[in-house]
Amino acid sequence: MSIATSRATREGEPGIVPLWIGGQRVEPCTERFGEVTNPATGAVIRRVPFCGAEDVARAVGAARAAFPEWRSTPPLRRARILTRFRELMEAHRDELVRLVTEEHGKTLADAAGSVQRGIEVIEFASGAPHLLKGEHAEDVGRGVDCHSLLQPLGVCVGITPFNFPVMVPLWMFPVAIACGNTFVLKPSEKVPSASLRMAELFKEAGLPDGVFNVIHGDKAAVDALLVHPEVKAVSFVGSTPIARYVYETGARHGKRVQALGGAKNHAVVLPDADLDFAAEALVGAAYGSAGERCMAISAVVAVGEAADPLVEKLAARARRLKVGPGSEPGVEMGPLISRAHRDRVKGYVDQGEAAGARLVVDGRGLQVPGHEYGFFLGPTLFDHVTPEMSIYRDEIFGPVLVVLRVRDFGEALELVNRNPYGNGTALFTRSGAAARRFQNEVEVGMVGVNVPIPVPMAFFSFGGWKQSLFGDLHVHGMEGVYFYTRTKVVTTRWSETDLPGRGLSMPTLG
Ligand code: NAD
Repeated sequence: MSIATSRATREGEPGIVPLWIGGQRVEPCTERFGEVTNPATGAVIRRVPFCGAEDVARAVGAARAAFPEWRSTPPLRRARILTRFRELMEAHRDELVRLVTEEHGKTLADAAGSVQRGIEVIEFASGAPHLLKGEHAEDVGRGVDCHSLLQPLGVCVGITPFNFPVMVPLWMFPVAIACGNTFVLKPSEKVPSASLRMAELFKEAGLPDGVFNVIHGDKAAVDALLVHPEVKAVSFVGSTPIARYVYETGARHGKRVQALGGAKNHAVVLPDADLDFAAEALVGAAYGSAGERCMAISAVVAVGEAADPLVEKLAARARRLKVGPGSEPGVEMGPLISRAHRDRVKGYVDQGEAAGARLVVDGRGLQVPGHEYGFFLGPTLFDHVTPEMSIYRDEIFGPVLVVLRVRDFGEALELVNRNPYGNGTALFTRSGAAARRFQNEVEVGMVGVNVPIPVPMAFFSFGGWKQSLFGDLHVHGMEGVYFYTRTKVVTTRWSETDLPGRGLSMPTLG
């Protein structure tokens, strides 16, 4: 299956990833393009259009035109199309997984897990008839009933990051569309192809043209979406500075916005924890997907005597990790997304060393034979890190795990709560009392107890606190349904015998 079109490309040149507007592949109006690379080889594999206001207007126009008919399509019919879409996603799972690995670099097994988690959101959204039931109360007053309706907003937009080319878009558009909205997706320009393929499968499932559209691009496309008068809601996932910008700009232009940002996720390890289990879990959580997960554990807070044996176990496991192209069997960790990002992460390792942290495992010298132009960096582990060091303060988004040592549980909790991010966190312990206190007092949106990456299932909501989320509602679960709907409350009286007396005072029922 070929993603790219051949427009304007000479023999041997990478093809252009098309847009998807009005139910078909379309050529962009823009003359600006970027490059899509395979991070394992460093080769340019496709070109991606950087859309401007003109392409955005075409996509939003198609979504606007499709809205009245889709809004009045019964939720049960919408749900049946979603069910068929889920079946097609499952049938084409391997193809999508390969696209994720080709453009992002993560291993095939990791990509398969992320595609599965995305498919589960379609499964959730297929419950639309149930999810969209409002509330009803009989006799809120004498002869008066009250009920609420959850109605769609109109054209909704999704802007997504590079690290989950299938899963993060699926957090958004199946729920929005199940609720009766139409949608324009702008995936990351680094990994554009999977979104196009999902659009084709959704059409094959029976989705009417214009309900789902895909455009590509960078800031110019995002800016045009944020000011377009027909866009009613914006879902964003990406880094914190851009999340804040999208939230503020969208809100200023009258849109409902949920903007999920970056993270620095801590795992607190108490001395009573099973340290073998904790070390194995933490290595997966820190280095899986080369640390390019918003829920990756990037800081371990080792309490008391847990520290020495834990660091030893983490180091032993990290040194054994097999790094290479994500498509090769047996590889546990792939490359980073780009050369620039790999060099930035390397720069953090230099800074940590210069700041006096103990570099236990150094991934900078890694070579992957036959893949000298790939964007690889080996797993890196720092011990004796302090809160003022940049390797702790900043989101590195690479395979760099830092260990901070504290005296007791209270100090650990305070450290986690002082951090400006609040996406995910985990506690490793055998103590129910410690776990209970942790989940009650920690200021983080998603919490794991002996679970290193507590990504909620689709029927719960996903979202962080503090600098990890701008806006009020999380994605998917019922919060997703509330984000993509407006509530209308209807109060009804039919009984002629129960008409109250007339008057000018504030009406009361009962
Ligand atoms: P990013 O912020 O660079 O890009 C995200 C999206 O914003 C992309 O579609 C991109 O084209 C667009 N964009 C980039 N610069 C822009 C600008 N100046 N103006 C307007 N739009 C712009 O993020 P990324 O590098 O693609 O992804 C990694 C980041 O995403 C990390 O910080 C990670 O923690 C975060 N992330 C968060 C979650 C979460 O659930 N909180 C999930 C996944 C990723």
